[in-house]
Amino acid sequence: MRVIIIGPPGSGKSTQADLFSQYFQIPHISTGDMFREAFKTGTILGKKAKEHQTSGGLVPDELTIEIVLERLNQPDCSKGFLLDGFPRNVAQAYALDKILQSMPGKLDGVINIEVDDEILLERITNRRVCSQCGETYHLTYYPPKQEDICNLCGGKIYQRSDDTIEIARSRIIVYHEQTKPLIDYYRSQGLLIEVNGDQDIHKVLRDIIKGVCNDS
Ligand code: ADP
Ligand code: ADP
Ligand code: ZN
Repeated sequence: MRVIIIGPPGSGKSTQADLFSQYFQIPHISTGDMFREAFKTGTILGKKAKEHQTSGGLVPDELTIEIVLERLNQPDCSKGFLLDGFPRNVAQAYALDKILQSMPGKLDGVINIEVDDEILLERITNRRVCSQCGETYHLTYYPPKQEDICNLCGGKIYQRSDDTIEIARSRIIVYHEQTKPLIDYYRSQGLLIEVNGDQDIHKVLRDIIKGVCNDS
């Protein structure tokens, strides 16, 4: 199973990617998570990425493609993977095509989660994340049982520094300008699986699994 999940910020990519990768037992590769982890461990890559994340823009392609290439070459990706948040522009999609040509197997599908912009802003500003295991919460739809404490691991829950209304607005603009063109790119290759992300989390997951299984 080799799939990509794309969609605007706040559409539910990370939530769905976690569930989907557990279901199919494949690694969940999130470039956003990799950048945040690099920042936490204090690497130069992490610091460079953070500059772009705080403006709501994209991290330069060179850095992003490099970390994805390195990750896809790890042995656990040989039987499949789920890419969450990569590619995010056409140049990254071309680079991914090249990387995949050198790997066994083909891409099974590209899941596009669709959600209207007004809902995105509400979801992003109410998102909270576990600092330890990365579990994603929502203050209204999926609050932690104990305030600020992760249900799964007991870790402390925090708000991402780029989840402010201003930065969220910029990220949504970047999505429309740079990431949306990928929808046509993958549709023309017959790989696109369109899913309505404005439904209950488990209903969205069911539609994704149905779409991927019908397609492959
Ligand atoms: P993305 O990775 O696309 O930015 P997330 O998976 O982090 O999106 O979800 C953004 C926020 O919306 C989180 O707070 C999450 O709990 C919440 N969320 C995700 N899917 C749904 C859904 N189907 N309905 C309501 N809230 C959702
Ligand atoms: P969301 O989907 O909610 O925007 P992510 O964690 O996927 O959250 O991304 C957060 C930030 O990390 C992006 O706004 C961008 O700055 C950076 N980023 C993540 N993936 C990429 C990518 N493929 N290319 C460039 N920048 C990226
Ligand atoms: Zn946790």
